[in-house]
Amino acid sequence: MKIGVDIGGQHVAVGLVENDNLIVDKSELYSAEDREHIEDAIVEKIVREINEILEENNITMDKIESIGIGSPGTISGGSIVKAGNLGLKDFNLLDRLKEHFDKPMHLRNDGKCAALAEKAYGSLKDYDDALFLNIGTGVGGAAFLGGKLLEPKRYSGFEFGHMVIEKDGIECTCGKKGCFERYASIKSLKNKVTSALNLEGDISGRYMRENLLDMNNPEINKIVNEFLDSIVLGINNLIDIFEPEIICFGGSFSYYEGTEIFENYFKSKYYALNGRFNEGEPPKLVMATFKNNAGIIGATID
Ligand SMILES: [Zn+2]
Repeated sequence: MKIGVDIGGQHVAVGLVENDNLIVDKSELYSAEDREHIEDAIVEKIVREINEILEENNITMDKIESIGIGSPGTISGGSIVKAGNLGLKDFNLLDRLKEHFDKPMHLRNDGKCAALAEKAYGSLKDYDDALFLNIGTGVGGAAFLGGKLLEPKRYSGFEFGHMVIEKDGIECTCGKKGCFERYASIKSLKNKVTSALNLEGDISGRYMRENLLDMNNPEINKIVNEFLDSIVLGINNLIDIFEPEIICFGGSFSYYEGTEIFENYFKSKYYALNGRFNEGEPPKLVMATFKNNAGIIGATID
């Protein structure tokens, strides 16, 4: 049995994982105060949640093979070099966790963790050349070529969310302007929808999906269409570069499977591009098998 940790933009989640099975998990949201000392808050939450989940399930630490952690941003060794959404820079997380746990530990970008789970056990299992796009608080992702995950060696490579899709566009936490994730993340959609409807407070992605996206409301219709256009624009760039057989969507966007927004609006925009694929069909579209759990499951894969 392994422990998987998923450091998200809104919370830290920990789970007990056996291969593709997330046996049990728990999570803690960041408070406003946590965000003022985010490094300590992340360490505290991981340590507390791991200890609690073991205790609650009557499992001792000697049953645990390893602890794998997924984090947003650029990762190098045991450090989070930069995670703009969380305001982290040069934070050696594994050194801090070694003070608490004597286990093999590894750290990897969260989008790549989720992609590895889908490749090993989920929607991408039978494909060699695949793209995974995690659309949630930000936009992360990964590419597989010939069955192998492409991993950056020098810079923050394969950070699809920071590909510029609009010249002089909206400022991004990475320092550039017009990044893909400023237009195509669920967070960007939520900000626009809540401000159009004059809503305040914390609204869940699920509540928005089920109650707020009324396509008969012209303002919402426009916002949703622009959001979907941005995703299609971004994946078109990625298709030209990586030539995948299949594209898998993870993160909160994967819960749009079966909705009118995905099945009708999104797919018609995507398949309208058919003409450009001289040799047949465009890459297949699938949703992540493990939805938002892909990060925790994939964090445990070495
Ligand atoms: Zn950016």
